[in-house]
Amino acid sequence: MPSPFVPMSSRASWAPFNFGVAMLKPFALLCVLQLFLGVSVLFPAVSRADELYGSPPKNTKEYLDRLVRYYSGTISSYDDDFLYLKNGTKFHISDHRTDKTFQELLERPDIANMFYAPYPMGAIPKQPDKNVDPGRVRFEPLFIAMYGNCKNNEVFKNLQHINWLPKHDGGSVTITRINGVDRALEEVSRDLDELPNDLIKYLKPTAGTYNCRVVAGTNYMSMHGYGAALDINSKYSSYWRWVLNDQGEPKWKNQIPIQIVRIFEKHGFIWGGYWYHYDTMHFEYRPELLVPAESAE
Ligand SMILES: [Zn+2]
Repeated sequence: MPSPFVPMSSRASWAPFNFGVAMLKPFALLCVLQLFLGVSVLFPAVSRADELYGSPPKNTKEYLDRLVRYYSGTISSYDDDFLYLKNGTKFHISDHRTDKTFQELLERPDIANMFYAPYPMGAIPKQPDKNVDPGRVRFEPLFIAMYGNCKNNEVFKNLQHINWLPKHDGGSVTITRINGVDRALEEVSRDLDELPNDLIKYLKPTAGTYNCRVVAGTNYMSMHGYGAALDINSKYSSYWRWVLNDQGEPKWKNQIPIQIVRIFEKHGFIWGGYWYHYDTMHFEYRPELLVPAESAE
């Protein structure tokens, strides 16, 4: 039977009385190595709080194909380095930074960073992992090129009225006609109108579409500023800033039935309930993110 005790010879070097200069050298080496690695593999407990972002996902090309397909009015093509717009503008796909903090990821993303977290299409909603906000990272110049800059009054002129849940007197909402978002939302409305009556309360009155504003607590534009997002009834909504746990982190919570989410997704809209920084009444037109689960692996 093997002895449960470690032999004295290997225990000796860890004994406190031996922890002198000889141990400090390797420790200093580890610290230097840590600086070079950037992301900690040596002290995983520390790295969780300081995770760094920026590496393009493996399937970036699949997302770029989808950008070209769904936003063909604005985007013409891409190659290994650039995304090309029809107006002659080109954007670097990657800024080659892999050391962004989460705040930098949100405020200074490149094109590839928009796809850092796969949207969990078809998944049962649950507490998302820390900082997993698929769709919340947007490369602003691309969205301004498509929808206009609302601060210069460029978005308003593209807004279109559509009837919201006409069978249930939902009134009308305004949404951009760029990229066919108005037609997509009309199809959403048509499908939602057929849902059982007990689900209609979640959908009306709506809590707004176009609104020229930045995301709360940041300096970047909300999808509402492009006229390409819709908030359903705020009465049944949950928002991460309203419920923080003892550590000051979002505590996920949701009342929105999944049938509603599936209908929006079918027509190109993603749901804010899949975000770590969640917003369960929020839907925005982002068909490029609705990659079937098997190819997102
Ligand atoms: Zn919203």
